[in-house]
Amino acid sequence: MPIEDVETLVVGGGISGLACAAHLKRNGRTVRLVERDDHLGGVIRTLSDSGYQIETGPNSLLVRAGEPLLETLSLMGLDKKVQRAGTTGKKRYILKNGRPVALPMSLSEGLTSPFLSLAGKLRLLKEPFISRIEPAQSQDETVADFVRRRLGDEFLEALIDPFVKGVFASDPRILSMADTFPRLVDLEERYGSLVKGGLALARKNKGPAPPLSREILSFEGGMEALPRALAEELGSDAGSNAEVIGCSRSDWGFKTALLFEDETYYIRSRHLVLAISAPQAAELLEPLAPDAATLLAGIPYAPVAVVYLGYPRERIAHPLDGFGLLVPSRERRKILGILFSSSLFPGRAPEGHALLTVFAGGMNQPRLATSFDEELLPLVTGEVESILKTSGRPSYVRIQRWGGAIPQTTPGHGQKVVSIQSALPPGLHLAGSYLAGVSVSQSFTSGVRAAEKILTTPKD
Ligand SMILES: Cc1cc2nc3c(=O)[nH]c(=O)nc-3n(C[C@H](O)[C@H](O)[C@H](O)COP(=O)(O)OP(=O)(O)OC[C@H]3O[C@@H](n4cnc5c(N)ncnc54)[C@H](O)[C@@H]3O)c2cc1C
Repeated sequence: MPIEDVETLVVGGGISGLACAAHLKRNGRTVRLVERDDHLGGVIRTLSDSGYQIETGPNSLLVRAGEPLLETLSLMGLDKKVQRAGTTGKKRYILKNGRPVALPMSLSEGLTSPFLSLAGKLRLLKEPFISRIEPAQSQDETVADFVRRRLGDEFLEALIDPFVKGVFASDPRILSMADTFPRLVDLEERYGSLVKGGLALARKNKGPAPPLSREILSFEGGMEALPRALAEELGSDAGSNAEVIGCSRSDWGFKTALLFEDETYYIRSRHLVLAISAPQAAELLEPLAPDAATLLAGIPYAPVAVVYLGYPRERIAHPLDGFGLLVPSRERRKILGILFSSSLFPGRAPEGHALLTVFAGGMNQPRLATSFDEELLPLVTGEVESILKTSGRPSYVRIQRWGGAIPQTTPGHGQKVVSIQSALPPGLHLAGSYLAGVSVSQSFTSGVRAAEKILTTPKD
């Protein structure tokens, strides 16, 4: 029954745990990170298979100015390995009446694009004249309520619904506006209108954006380059194949039991960071903070199936000249969206071939995410054939399933997170995609924030 003492133990080797542990180590603290899987990176993993480069989780990331990940990229030398999607990453298609329609990329394109009807376009022009509602009322608004109120039904159904499906595998009718798109709620509160607020911000941020911000990025060797760089920094302080099976209080702080090669080990730590999903954290927290555990267990997650399809390029009629295609609910399809993976970055498919990444399931069709391959594959390839005009069967197929992929920021989520944090005993910290936002860079931020709390706690 070996026992080890360390200042901070981080449970979970996804991007949020790695970011937390690396930030502590850079600041001279002793830290140990344990991960139950055989690799570090959590859902971020890049695989080479039959000449294709497959991303099991995120295909790309976007970093905003001021986010900690932006500074860390150069610190880790990853800025030199960055691959940019460039203008291809900006072009997106939306399915309309069964056909892919390019989203307008400028105001003038918007006026002539068939993406909205004349009535829908005129409704958008009314936005600056619609008065704001009281902040207290907006706290409970769903994304659908907010968009319908400010921008109209057609904009909701044609653009926001497919966007929410593509990013959150969800439905605008069940997500909270304030917790999912806080920047837009803030624009309404401060400027009374999204259009007025957007113009004011554009004037304010007129100067050049910091390098690499606001761009769709990946790395040479794929997304896994990011967790790999963090894992290299941590060296032997990060270990895989070690599952935490229980946590309790000790006189010094916490005593954590973990299983490694069929043997139970114990780590005593002053700080304990749970950088795992909300339901996983709920299980470990039950004996330590039962109120926080109950709230964590109530955070829903969308299940997703990811289907990778490879085709000889000439067997896809669509030009694949963009990021991908979003699918509104009103099109009644069996997929959430398609990424044109090999158009975005080089080296994702063998010469003369194209790689498509198709998402299915989500909150509205959860059963599809867990259906057998024999059911899922014909549905997905059938949809792709009818939308992108592929001919013949794909020459490459792979399926990845995530039971609890994307946390759902339903109404009351922000308040729930505040209550969870205040129900934690001193020294216990949380990190993960349900705290500061689901993206890679927001998950990274949640890890850095947990580390900052530890750094600002006075030492004994
Ligand atoms: C299919 C998919 C596509 C996505 N696409 C994008 C995208 O294009 N862009 C973007 O920005 N974001 C995307 N995201 C979101 C983003 O990738 C995730 O939100 C983020 O990577 C989550 O990181 P995490 O560290 O919080 O969690 P995870 O990656 O889930 O890591 C948690 C880790 O904890 C480990 N763990 C759990 N329990 C224990 C235990 N008891 N003991 C030890 N270890 C444990 C798990 O094995 C796991 O490795 C996508 C997510 C998915 C699933």
